[in-house]
Amino acid sequence: MYKKLKQKFHRMTSNNIGIDLGTANTLVYMQGRGVVINEPSVVAVNQKTGRVVAVGSQAKAMLGRTPGHIIAVRPLVDGVISDFEITEEMLSYLIKKAEGLSKKMLGPKVVVGVPYGVTNVERRAVRDAAKNAGAREVHIVEEPMSAAIGIRLPVREATGSMIIDIGGGTTDIAVISLGGIVRAKNLKIAGDKLNTDIISYIRNEFKILIGEKTAEDMKIAIASVLPCTPTLETTIRGRDLVTGLPREVIITDSDIREAIGASMNTLLDAVKEVLETTPPEILADVMRNGIYLAGGGALIRGLPEALSDYVGIPVYVAEDPLTAVARGAGIILEELEKFEDMLIQNEHELPVTR
Ligand code: ADP
Ligand code: MG
Repeated sequence: MYKKLKQKFHRMTSNNIGIDLGTANTLVYMQGRGVVINEPSVVAVNQKTGRVVAVGSQAKAMLGRTPGHIIAVRPLVDGVISDFEITEEMLSYLIKKAEGLSKKMLGPKVVVGVPYGVTNVERRAVRDAAKNAGAREVHIVEEPMSAAIGIRLPVREATGSMIIDIGGGTTDIAVISLGGIVRAKNLKIAGDKLNTDIISYIRNEFKILIGEKTAEDMKIAIASVLPCTPTLETTIRGRDLVTGLPREVIITDSDIREAIGASMNTLLDAVKEVLETTPPEILADVMRNGIYLAGGGALIRGLPEALSDYVGIPVYVAEDPLTAVARGAGIILEELEKFEDMLIQNEHELPVTR
């Protein structure tokens, strides 16, 4: 009874937040409320004044459309923080927005998920940015760990769990056991690369130039790793490279499959490599427990089946794969002490294979 009251009181007084600082999307989880902010990781900056003009979907809509002095930037490219100041501005904006949603005055405790393998310097930048933005305490967690916690894999137990988080800039492949990452690999083949694959393919095969947004929409609409019946198709508009005029063309799932084939094979091989170096007992666990897919790339049609076929292990798509990391950060927030050993300390460097 007392414990329940205490928990209730705790929920009422805390405005702690978890942040998934993704390369494509940034999510904010607020304790007791769930995911309250879900915005593209894009910031628009006025170069004349150096001020941030827009953050999130407003800024994304400006990508490729800005007048000279306004630039829309993605502060995280390939999973790496490419612009510290803008990352800080974005974090500050998000923390303030989240704070505005709560009535609490005390600075929040913040758990931030960062891509696997970011450097000490980058982690410190994230920590400082969150502190400058008003956080009372900052805790940093590697995204694959957070995703695994978010989808409630038994990360603490003496059993191997495997998670593959396919985001915008990077794919994290991680094997987890006893609260730690046992084997992991981070590769730069993820959603963005598939978009550029599609742009190149359409240019080479159809002599049409399309933008990134068109490529991404097309990927989401019809990308499939396995043949589809009936055929999926979509009409796209782009600039004819020969005439310079706009032209329409119908693209099918088999076109996209060809476009992204090489990247998908590299991704499948990377998973195999991680499995090949996983200790036998843990590998046996993974074979029994299956592999879980998270991140937006988990939604590519046919990927679970194709991967399962390739490695001979069952593959499952996490429920609501795009929010897994943020939900994990939320679970960590609720019981910070319990997860302390799984968070990253500044001095501690994890082994990275790229
Ligand atoms: P990050 O963690 O890097 O911010 P997300 O996990 O939010 O990335 O995933 C974003 C990526 O997932 C983008 O490249 C987006 O195009 C891709 N994506 C989102 N939905 C789908 C879908 N239904 N099919 C294929 N790709 C998708
Ligand atoms: Mg992510």
